[in-house]
Amino acid sequence: MPDFSRRMLLGAAAALPLLRGGVAGAAAPFRNDLPPAWHRFRLGDYELTVVSDGTLPLGKPEPAFPASPPQEIHALLQANFLPPDAATLEQNALVLNTGRQLILFDTGMGESMGAASKMFGPTTGRLLANLRAAGIEPAQIDLVALTHAHCDHCWALVDADGKRNFPNAQVAVSEADLKFWTDDANKRGPDFMVPFIDGAKKNLSAYRDRMVMLRDGQEVAPGVTAVATPGHTVGHHMFFITSGNQVLANSGDLAHHPVLLLRKPLWEFAFDTDPKQSAQTRSRMLERLATERHAVLSYHFPWPGLGHVAKEGDGYEWIPAPMNVTTLG
Ligand SMILES: [Zn+2]
Repeated sequence: MPDFSRRMLLGAAAALPLLRGGVAGAAAPFRNDLPPAWHRFRLGDYELTVVSDGTLPLGKPEPAFPASPPQEIHALLQANFLPPDAATLEQNALVLNTGRQLILFDTGMGESMGAASKMFGPTTGRLLANLRAAGIEPAQIDLVALTHAHCDHCWALVDADGKRNFPNAQVAVSEADLKFWTDDANKRGPDFMVPFIDGAKKNLSAYRDRMVMLRDGQEVAPGVTAVATPGHTVGHHMFFITSGNQVLANSGDLAHHPVLLLRKPLWEFAFDTDPKQSAQTRSRMLERLATERHAVLSYHFPWPGLGHVAKEGDGYEWIPAPMNVTTLG
């Protein structure tokens, strides 16, 4: 019997390489696909859904913060366990269902501008698919409210043929952004100004007869107040959404990076139309958000972009809301 056992063991050992070579072929291939990305919660009587347009890779962070010391950028990123050589933003669009109206805030990059739609790489343009995955049809949207008219916020208003993706929606945008981003005379300065203006013209013109102009302090829908926060663009607006005694501040592009621009709110960002005004607006509004303790949705912060702003030293800290919180505000 011992001989038999030894033979069994030897046999099993001898078979191992065969198993590795043969059965190992059953190893699953990497899938590399992404799950649908939407997140739903309540705010008072309203139902809200954050829908992702995918990630927006900026690449090396230094060019995005041209006036900031590179060693300070690296130190802040490293201290927060973020790669020092690649800054990646999210794109968190919001759908608000008030029970009477369905409002989409910002559209993501879309596919309306061909190669320019992929200027930040292939990871953007997922909003329409994620919207449908969340059970919302684009034709159900009554109003698209734009924080501003940049590519990653309004280029999915139309498809590649210029046809409206939201056939029953009005579009709310500030008059300042509408004028600025549809004026060929502003095609100067950084290279991105040419595609940014061409894209805004194509997307906004398709809704020419159904535009609503945002005004500072005024409601675009019951409980939804636009607040002028200029600098990133001339007409950038945030939206304060209130239901009952709960408030969510949809901050748009008030701050693009949850570490760099919260710890250093006065740092300048390369895609700002007026970086100095943007820094002042950011400082002032972050102070208000921290003091009033409002829940915040930030378009470019880590998915799904929900959390709070707290004071930290001479700047601020982003405190993400747990995903299992079903009611914010
Ligand atoms: Zn943006």
